[in-house]
Amino acid sequence: MLTPIGVPAGTEVAAGVIGYPVRHSLSPTICQAAFDELGLDWVYAAFEVLPGDAGQALDHMRERDMAGLSVTMPHKADVAAAVDELSPAAAALGVVNCVSRDGARLVGHNTDGAGFCDALLAEGVDLAGIDCAVLGAGGAARAVVAELARRGVGEVAVIARRPEAAASAAALAGSVGSTAGLADVGRYRLVVNATPVGMAETEGAGELPIDPDLLHVGQHVAELVYNPLHTPLLTECHRRGVGVSTGVGMLVHQAAHAVRIWTGSEPPVDAMTAAATAALQGR
Ligand code: NAP
Repeated sequence: MLTPIGVPAGTEVAAGVIGYPVRHSLSPTICQAAFDELGLDWVYAAFEVLPGDAGQALDHMRERDMAGLSVTMPHKADVAAAVDELSPAAAALGVVNCVSRDGARLVGHNTDGAGFCDALLAEGVDLAGIDCAVLGAGGAARAVVAELARRGVGEVAVIARRPEAAASAAALAGSVGSTAGLADVGRYRLVVNATPVGMAETEGAGELPIDPDLLHVGQHVAELVYNPLHTPLLTECHRRGVGVSTGVGMLVHQAAHAVRIWTGSEPPVDAMTAAATAALQGR
């Protein structure tokens, strides 16, 4: 039995996010904005689910006939192992961030990479044939690397401090995957920060993952970090005339994919972006 956070007792919850901790999650703000804008009387809520208890959350979803779940740390791999079916993206990565129903069957998806690429396309960044560097080789980096390759970029180079992790992430891009070093970042049209460096309230707050003097006009830097909205890296890029994308685009577009999967309706991305931005500015 799961208890939703922040909704009156007895509320029927149509979809929600599971994680631990989960109280900081922006998913309720973004997804509720989507449901409201679509005119659905659906409630989205957060559920604090202890490590190892993801299976109980899936049972709850089945029993309560919920339309979907978002999945965050530490449950992404456990959920991938427990659902009845995986989307191709989730199967390639072995981690799930969204669960939907197909009748009685639960389907696991991974919408992070698609959300990242859709956000860039929405901002007018053409991915076709461009060379990309991804900093970091963790869960988010792996999703981005795999999807960039699927979208037909030229090369995807992974730059990470652990060579084995870099090679494993690069392998997800198949023949266009490679590894590179920090000194190489000036070579790539798109540079993605998929490390937490620059994130508020962490050891790396105020820091930059690369030397911004290696960047030049004509490049585009995309952050995955969204708190703060304008990271030290993006501030330095602005100063140098380098194009930038904040982490909010990916945050909203990965949720937009989930909303599309659950509701079958086109997600109201503008309303979702406004809700996410307002919440972040209020932090
Ligand atoms: P993760 O699985 O922990 O991976 C983090 C990666 O960054 C690892 O490769 C790690 O290297 C590397 N790293 C950490 N600290 C570093 C440092 N000081 N210098 C160099 N490399 C460092 O985390 P994740 O889930 O991929 O998330 C990464 C970031 O993306 C987080 O800030 C997260 O909030 C953000 N994110 C944003 C969105 C969005 O929607 N915008 C979605 C997902 C994630 P080691 O393995 O060597 O530690």
